[in-house]
Amino acid sequence: MSDEGSLSQLRVPLERLQRLDPIRTWKVEVRADQLEEVKTPLRIGDVFVPSHHPVVVDVVLAKVSEGVAVNGTVVANWVAECSRCLRTIEGDALAQVEELFEENPREGESYPLGDEFLDLAAMVREAVLLELPVGVVRCPNTQECLEAAPEYASAKRKSGDEAEDSERRDPRWAALDELTFEEE
Ligand SMILES: [Zn+2]
Repeated sequence: MSDEGSLSQLRVPLERLQRLDPIRTWKVEVRADQLEEVKTPLRIGDVFVPSHHPVVVDVVLAKVSEGVAVNGTVVANWVAECSRCLRTIEGDALAQVEELFEENPREGESYPLGDEFLDLAAMVREAVLLELPVGVVRCPNTQECLEAAPEYASAKRKSGDEAEDSERRDPRWAALDELTFEEE
């Protein structure tokens, strides 16, 4: 990894773009709370990026006549509570960014280009928020989720005497309990 790659900063010094041999890529990993400083936590409804989770920014910078074009990806790992079984689920928000930074930014169109720095924070933040899932969030595996749902567990408890046992068992294996094997 180059020295540019290891810089854990969202502020790109413009001087680096103006050198004879300018940097072209900016790959950094920051903690989500570095983006919270801008405004509020990275959250849409019940889906959020925990403060300590990494947000990976991998972009290509190009000087253009209007300013600096920034293209690449932003990836953040979100968590949420499954709306049916209430277990914690997680996923990656992968955002493609294609933005322009210019001296006189246009509202909703481009981002401001500072005198010395190109600050990626607002762009990264907005990119992540746009990719967080909205609406009802549930486990990817419907069968497991159904069996781990509180209604299912309580129904099973009423029907049998293995309540304590089923509580202790990892719900992820519940589906396996249903399987029967023909051979030894
Ligand atoms: Zn679930």
